[in-house]
Amino acid sequence: MPAKILDGTKIANDIRSEVAAEVKTMVAAGVRPGLAVVLVGHNPASEIYVRGKVKASNEVGLYSEQHTPSESATTAKLLALIEDLNRRDEIDGILVQLPLPAQVDSKQVLMAVDPSKDVDGFHPVNVGSLSTQRPGLVPCTPAGVMEILNRSNIPIAGQEAVVVGRSDIVGKPAAMLLLNANATVTICHSKTPDLAAACRRADILIAAIGRPGMITCDFVKPGATVIDVGMNKVTDPAVFQRLFGGRLYKNAKREDAFLAKGSTLVGDVHPEVAEVAGALTPVPGGVGPLTIAMLMYNTVKAAKMRRGQWPVAGRRPSGSRRRSAMADH
Ligand code: NAP
Repeated sequence: MPAKILDGTKIANDIRSEVAAEVKTMVAAGVRPGLAVVLVGHNPASEIYVRGKVKASNEVGLYSEQHTPSESATTAKLLALIEDLNRRDEIDGILVQLPLPAQVDSKQVLMAVDPSKDVDGFHPVNVGSLSTQRPGLVPCTPAGVMEILNRSNIPIAGQEAVVVGRSDIVGKPAAMLLLNANATVTICHSKTPDLAAACRRADILIAAIGRPGMITCDFVKPGATVIDVGMNKVTDPAVFQRLFGGRLYKNAKREDAFLAKGSTLVGDVHPEVAEVAGALTPVPGGVGPLTIAMLMYNTVKAAKMRRGQWPVAGRRPSGSRRRSAMADH
């Protein structure tokens, strides 16, 4: 039986509605959470991401502002900007869109963000809070993965989870969240021998690799839940053919779009996995929409934490099962 498709767009929309309701309550009490986005230079992909983040902020009722230093901005200039945003009380979240230009010391800039406003969850203080199960800000994409699992009623506690990828942004925090939710976690990477065998142990398989369609049926235990974090732009017709040329997973709509546009967005999981997995996130429409939804969530969470309103009594620790977005991660 083909896998159940986990609809990330719907889950993200639910979270955005819940966040919007929370913002409304906070505004009525005199606080509008605020997000500052820093976009340096003119990276076209970054400009698209930032537009999406600002639009989402407006839709859920957050205050938002954009700062756009020029491509030639120095580390010192960006540090001064971050310092100013750290000081301003109406700013609850600071997001520095990566990548920064080569002349900028990215680590120094990210380290300068006040951890209580670090809505990306990249600051070592937040990384430490996650690994010691203290309240903090959790990176948006892995937090979104947990939302998909929890809201789809996928059991986590006691399950074997395998995360392929060990980046600070996705792989490591995803593994930590799964561990906090009592899964038995294996982290794999490019030096893992017999990756397919390691992945086949998984009840929950998280692919965060950046290799189009690398996870094939051989990597998947029948019935496993497969979460595809990968976002890869495919332009090579041979790669497209490898992914969508098979009889079972031929996709005429996608083929037409590929021919018209010359590219398509694919995940790290081959479409054939739908024949083996129990549940699967699509690309697009899976993890992607959750990332912005969780940024909105983190901004409200930061606003509450900064005002001593988090964690709220009765809310559960990191990664545990729950229903409302406004409960703790
Ligand atoms: P990354 O920093 O490049 O990390 C990739 C990880 O995959 C590394 O740990 C690497 O291992 C591992 N890897 C690469 N090739 C491998 C192989 N052949 N076998 C086993 N492991 C391999 O990437 P990232 O930032 O974590 O992103 C991963 C993917 O998620 C990308 O496609 C990215 O676009 C996507 N992404 C999506 C969202 C979203 O909103 N949906 C957000 C962020 C990222 P080593 O450490 O050994 O090099």
